[in-house]
Amino acid sequence: MDSTLRKTLEDSIRNIPDYPKPGIMFRDITTMLGNARAFRRAVDELVHPFIGMGITQVAGIEARGFILGGAMAHQLSCGFIPVRKKGKLPHDKVTIAYSLEYGIDEMEVHTDAVTKGEKVLLVDDLIATGGTAEAAVKLLHKIGADVVAACFVVDLPDLGGAKKIKALGVPVRTLIEYEGD
Ligand code: AMP
Repeated sequence: MDSTLRKTLEDSIRNIPDYPKPGIMFRDITTMLGNARAFRRAVDELVHPFIGMGITQVAGIEARGFILGGAMAHQLSCGFIPVRKKGKLPHDKVTIAYSLEYGIDEMEVHTDAVTKGEKVLLVDDLIATGGTAEAAVKLLHKIGADVVAACFVVDLPDLGGAKKIKALGVPVRTLIEYEGD
């Protein structure tokens, strides 16, 4: 990735110290989404390696992964799968519990969201410990998806999340890294 894009993204992401609790530096991408050029460039860069790879679905993790994933699905001319917090999906679903940087939660996906072997690209705004994305990969595997890759705008490499996803056999694409957490 070129340094101009890195700067565009860094300049557009807002850093909020001690949110949601002391010691956490929150990387707020709402300012990136509100910046037309940064939003477009981030989406273009996230999908770039996957054009022509036969991806048929983008799966986005609630809620910021929905915004990026919808735009990516449009760009790749494929479908979109919402990976949702527990209790939001109306049809038959699979559920998984996972631990977050700040607690424990459950997420769900519809069992018929993919046909077996369908190529899926997973997306969220940020990967920290990787607990959220790991759960999403496992859910997608449970319903028969081939998770081709997982991508994120922001990586916090010191928290080891990307390594956790690669250990599941899923390649990881991230656009910018911040040292520490
Ligand atoms: P994790 O499961 O630890 O990889 O956490 C990833 C999820 O938590 C993503 O959905 C992020 O949006 C959110 N998250 C975790 N840490 C941060 C942070 N420092 N700044 C912004 N979002 C975060």
